[in-house]
Amino acid sequence: MYNLNIQPITLPGLELKRPIIISGPCSAETEEQTLSTAKELAARGIRIFRAGIWKPRTRPGAFEGVGTLGLPWLKRVKEETGMFVCVEVATAHHVYEAVKYGVDMVWIGARTSANPFAVQEVADAIKGLDIPVLVKNPVNPDLDLWIGAIERINRAGITQIAAIHRGFSSYDQSEFRNHPQWQIPIELRRRIPELPIITDPSHIAGNRELLADLSQEAMDLNFDGLIIESHICPDKAWSDAKQQITPERLKEIVDNLVLRRPKIGEDTPRVTLDELRKQIDKLDDQLLDLLKERMKISEAIGKYKFENNITILQTRRYDELMNNRRDRGSQRGLDEEFITRIFESIHEESISRQNEIMNKALSKKQKPQE
Ligand code: PEP
Ligand code: MN
Repeated sequence: MYNLNIQPITLPGLELKRPIIISGPCSAETEEQTLSTAKELAARGIRIFRAGIWKPRTRPGAFEGVGTLGLPWLKRVKEETGMFVCVEVATAHHVYEAVKYGVDMVWIGARTSANPFAVQEVADAIKGLDIPVLVKNPVNPDLDLWIGAIERINRAGITQIAAIHRGFSSYDQSEFRNHPQWQIPIELRRRIPELPIITDPSHIAGNRELLADLSQEAMDLNFDGLIIESHICPDKAWSDAKQQITPERLKEIVDNLVLRRPKIGEDTPRVTLDELRKQIDKLDDQLLDLLKERMKISEAIGKYKFENNITILQTRRYDELMNNRRDRGSQRGLDEEFITRIFESIHEESISRQNEIMNKALSKKQKPQE
């Protein structure tokens, strides 16, 4: 389906085994913070160091990275710890600067991979270089756009590519900063099985409490590695402070990971029964979230009907709704009777919610004023 040539990432002298662990601060802030974080990580066996040098911030005025000034610090990290270093690049200038200072690997950030012009600029700059490129998912949940970014890099002659799953932004409030929508990286795996996928629980979570569970989840889904933000003094970080952890905590999370092997024989497909079940669990979670949202809206409708003296059941609307859902269901290959059963049940619950709201409002109104 895709004409890609993806080869395993090789870093000289480092055998990349699952899980690949990449860690380091969101941003390189000072030479001291960069070096001390790297040394603490190296002392705990971490071999690949990340640090943002140019930071794409949502709003102007926030810390936008130290820029080229920080690249010699990374050179020192390499020399003094033997770690491999990687940075985010978003422009041709970033690529040239990073390469000039001996950066070993680069990643394309979520805001950049959403923009084909920017990805193409990076791809053109990187042409002819032998450097692994990690491509984060775009901020919006668009798998084709993500694959498009990977294709652009691959067409520039880069074969050592991995995808980073960092979650997807959404306007809804949830426990996550960026909703994981695991079904998207799972579908990416189905479409391009040879492409390694690295999970970024830091940017999915937005807070350090969820990191361990998300990391385990990524391993249970058979993804290949983790990129986790760490900082010598997380609470003092200049960017993404809430989601950063100490190198010590990072080691703890990594040590506690349980790596389940796919059970079947050697030619085990990349997508196993466990993964398919997980996929179902995720989708059911989404169904439940949607039902919760739908019931909230039903309650708001109940309130509106009460205030405007409208009856709860509007037969014409009900008939239209059922016909419409059956049609739309059929278009998606879903059985009409099945859709009818589901929407009858949803509608029944919705009416009962509206009734509750009306009764509550009525008893409030009838209560004598104190
Ligand atoms: C980062 O890795 O620090 C970063 C800016 O991530 P993202 O592009 O996923 O928001
Ligand atoms: Mn960050």
